[in-house]
Amino acid sequence: MNNQTQKVLVLGGGIAGLTAAWELSRQNIGVELVEKSCFLGGHSIGFTCKATDKCQQCGACSVEDMLKNVVNEPLINVHLRTEIKELKKSDGFKVTLAKSDIEIPAGKTLKGFSKHNKPFCVTSADKDSMGSEAKFDVDAVIVATGYSPFDPNRKSTYGYGKWTNVITGLDLENIIRENGALVRTSDGQKPEKVAFIQCVGSRDERLGNLWCSEVCCPYAMRMAGTVKNENPNADITMFYIDIQNTGKEFPLFYERIKENIRFVRTIPVDIYPLENDRLELRHMVEEAGSPASESFDMVVLSVGITPGKDTVKLSETIGISVNQDGFLDNTISNTGCFVAGTAGGPGSIAATMADAGKTAFEAMKYLGVM
Ligand SMILES: Cc1cc2nc3c(=O)[nH]c(=O)nc-3n(C[C@H](O)[C@H](O)[C@H](O)COP(=O)(O)OP(=O)(O)OC[C@H]3O[C@@H](n4cnc5c(N)ncnc54)[C@H](O)[C@@H]3O)c2cc1C
Ligand code: SF4
Ligand code: SF4
Repeated sequence: MNNQTQKVLVLGGGIAGLTAAWELSRQNIGVELVEKSCFLGGHSIGFTCKATDKCQQCGACSVEDMLKNVVNEPLINVHLRTEIKELKKSDGFKVTLAKSDIEIPAGKTLKGFSKHNKPFCVTSADKDSMGSEAKFDVDAVIVATGYSPFDPNRKSTYGYGKWTNVITGLDLENIIRENGALVRTSDGQKPEKVAFIQCVGSRDERLGNLWCSEVCCPYAMRMAGTVKNENPNADITMFYIDIQNTGKEFPLFYERIKENIRFVRTIPVDIYPLENDRLELRHMVEEAGSPASESFDMVVLSVGITPGKDTVKLSETIGISVNQDGFLDNTISNTGCFVAGTAGGPGSIAATMADAGKTAFEAMKYLGVM
């Protein structure tokens, strides 16, 4: 088969879907890239640069770079605010897409166009011009529909949503992006004492989430480094069970960060409000086995990665099974359907890009291109 006539459906426009689409297009394969939300880039497109005196390797800028590649590539056709309705195996696959019912945020100004005039963010002005259904044939399918951050309300003793200065790692990203620094939600002041609680929603038998999310140790330490860099007087404590070693550079990074940040090995039990929206965090002292408490201006819950909301529905539509942790099974098969990125399990931006590249390669092998 001439590979120029081949086409792959990529579901999900996060960094996994963008990378897979880009790699396929490099081999002259057409891509229909389907994104349920109003914008491309997934969770990590909003991440802020964590550079201090040097780059902290957070990966955020690679997402923007890949987004620009994709929207400028004529072989990649982007469908925003769209979902898969039906997938039928025939000679290849027959695909039916439908408009997703995601609300277009009012007054969204993020809209941008590539030089081919392709949008990477939909605004309410586009709503009426979007067709409701589309049908076409493809030769293979890559599912890159990502993850859901752990819902902190499931750890109710930490008081997320109840005590204003208890935030998640994603909230912290947003606060730093919007304010250029960490400020308290309650009064906009810079906190003097900040606690990070690790493994929120991961490695937790009671929740049935036994996996390590892999990203929350490095992201929390980078954020702590960014906060300390911006406000050297900030007193930062990290409550942890284990530290996940995420590669060659990590031990050095960890040693450096330990000079400025206190690490306490325990799982905090609960958080109570104090005067002036301060917070009391109660925990067990590991060596003594006795309870202790300490007050903070702000507490960051390092929420982890859990299976994406649509996993079960997608597994039925596409015919891919779900593994014991609830992620899509990403073992390679000869069905023509593949899984890329965090849809198949936790991973950083760099790990996701590597996995998506590998998945695109497997899809090309299936198509006989490699
Ligand atoms: C708090 C937090 C901080 C993090 N910080 C870092 C960091 O600093 N550095 C780092 O390397 N990693 C970080 N990560 C991990 C990072 O977010 C992931 O590695 C990355 O987002 C994974 O990309 P993805 O494309 O697999 O998934 P996602 O980013 O989840 O993208 C999936 C896309 O698929 C779309 N989608 C979902 N369902 C459907 C459907 N049914 N049909 C069509 N489209 C669909 C979604 O709308 C989304 O656009 C962090 C994670 C968390 C939770
Ligand atoms: S990898 Fe992260 S810290 Fe480094 S330059 Fe890019 S966005 Fe900034
Ligand atoms: S990466 Fe760190 S914080 Fe996240 S689940 Fe693993 S050990 Fe816990």
